[in-house]
Amino acid sequence: MTQNLLALNWKMNKTPAEARAWAEELREKLTANDTELAVMAPAVALASLAAHLPPGVALGAQDVSAHESGAYTGETSAAMLVDVGAKYAVVGHSERREYHHETDADVAAKAKQAQANGLIPIVCVGEGLNVREQGEQVAYTLGQLEGSLVGVGPEVVIAYEPVWAIGTGKTATADDAEELAAAIRDALIERYGSDADGIRILYGGSVKPDNIATLCAKPNVNGALVGGASLKVPDVIGMNDAL
Ligand code: PGA
Repeated sequence: MTQNLLALNWKMNKTPAEARAWAEELREKLTANDTELAVMAPAVALASLAAHLPPGVALGAQDVSAHESGAYTGETSAAMLVDVGAKYAVVGHSERREYHHETDADVAAKAKQAQANGLIPIVCVGEGLNVREQGEQVAYTLGQLEGSLVGVGPEVVIAYEPVWAIGTGKTATADDAEELAAAIRDALIERYGSDADGIRILYGGSVKPDNIATLCAKPNVNGALVGGASLKVPDVIGMNDAL
């Protein structure tokens, strides 16, 4: 059985001091189960989290540079993230694609750079509302996936996040999530062969304690990428316990 991954995307929330308080509360309340828990924190909070997270909880970044090092003002390299204790890096989140104009090729370059340094990229894909209304969500999302995986190896996590469900309170139904997760699985099998079996496919978009179990009960959904409900420890405990 593939181990579920509950990946918490804090986005631009929490100072290092707030991150520490969250980690200490988590340490008090978390009961370990078979789910892997990972926190995608702002880069400046990673060191604080590395020192205070409960054992076994993984650390991740929300983005990573496509470049090894050098004159790239404002960027954070994969080697820096590994050094501070990160295991994962989200790449191609829809907010980066939209506000920072990241293309599929940019996302693939970041994912490759992450892997070259031993970080596992969490590659995000998913359609907007207009695409869904036209019924083109499978073709659109698979096109994004193909472009975002050029040159990327199978040590990867895929997050299917329909843009219309992110931060809106509108969740895809479990059947909608599975439709895309199954299509993504087929595309991964075509690309990676039997290595695709162990690749985790997450669903993201308004996941909460009361809907996570239904979504993750689907055969190709192996966990969730969670924004809003990741900020408060009781919600995280609720989701972790539901898996
Ligand atoms: P949300 O965000 O859970 O607040 O919808 C998900 C995400 O953007 O990863």
